[in-house]
Amino acid sequence: MIRFEQVTKRYPDGTTAVSDLTFEVNEGELVTLVGPSGCGKTTTMKMVNRLIDPTAGRILVDGRDIMDGDPVELRRHMGYVIQNTGLFPHKTVLDNTATVPHLLGWPKTKRLARARELLDLVGLDPSVFGARYPDQLSGGQRQRVGVARALAADPPVLLMDEPFGAVDPVVRERLQTEFLKLQSDLRKTVLFVTHDIEEAVRLGDRMAVFGQGVIEQYAPPTEVLGAP
Ligand code: ADP
Ligand code: ADP
Repeated sequence: MIRFEQVTKRYPDGTTAVSDLTFEVNEGELVTLVGPSGCGKTTTMKMVNRLIDPTAGRILVDGRDIMDGDPVELRRHMGYVIQNTGLFPHKTVLDNTATVPHLLGWPKTKRLARARELLDLVGLDPSVFGARYPDQLSGGQRQRVGVARALAADPPVLLMDEPFGAVDPVVRERLQTEFLKLQSDLRKTVLFVTHDIEEAVRLGDRMAVFGQGVIEQYAPPTEVLGAP
């Protein structure tokens, strides 16, 4: 579904963030990108939806080189969830959740119905939370809205960059559990960036363990943990 072929990214200042990455993510698979800060995880993820373009190599999604298509079209196939969510502060939770359907021109009743459905799915009662603004939510609730928003147009791919990084450990564990449950139904193709090895083990079907700009191991968690 997503294939990296000898992908290198060098930033204009000369920093090589990743070099010669080759790996493949299967449809419906959740791959965690794990490693210390600065090893190239976010760069790798951002190349998938063309927030950043590679210096060399190519990336295929469904067999097509992503450089051949329209980046806006590409991004419609990919929900994006980041730490601190990037929710619009002046929009209600309901309108935030309906952002992508709005961009896609869905009629108002349809997109609001979809937003309510999604909020329910992530454990937020839309009649309680729908009319609130992001600053009237707890950190964990905001992250849930972030996930709901990413899922709104039912994209096959989810890109998640430290989505549960900004909440306390108890809330994080609850979000992980809920997300795993959601994923077992939805079977999205997921790239999930984290620096937390426990999170990577818990969530990943496979783990891409990064060293400085390279993937040192690419295997299911049991194998990564069992390695000498
Ligand atoms: P991670 O997500 O693992 O923390 P990043 O992909 O953000 O790592 O960064 C990888 C490397 O690229 C780091 O050395 C970082 O400083 C560098 N880097 C990231 N963004 C830029 C940029 N815009 N310009 C120059 N160097 C960058
Ligand atoms: P957490 O430990 O998950 O971060 P908080 O202590 O931030 O939780 O919030 C606890 C509860 O108070 C949550 O249910 C949240 O919806 C509610 N809450 C937080 N901030 C506000 C606010 N500004 N207005 C209304 N309700 C709020």
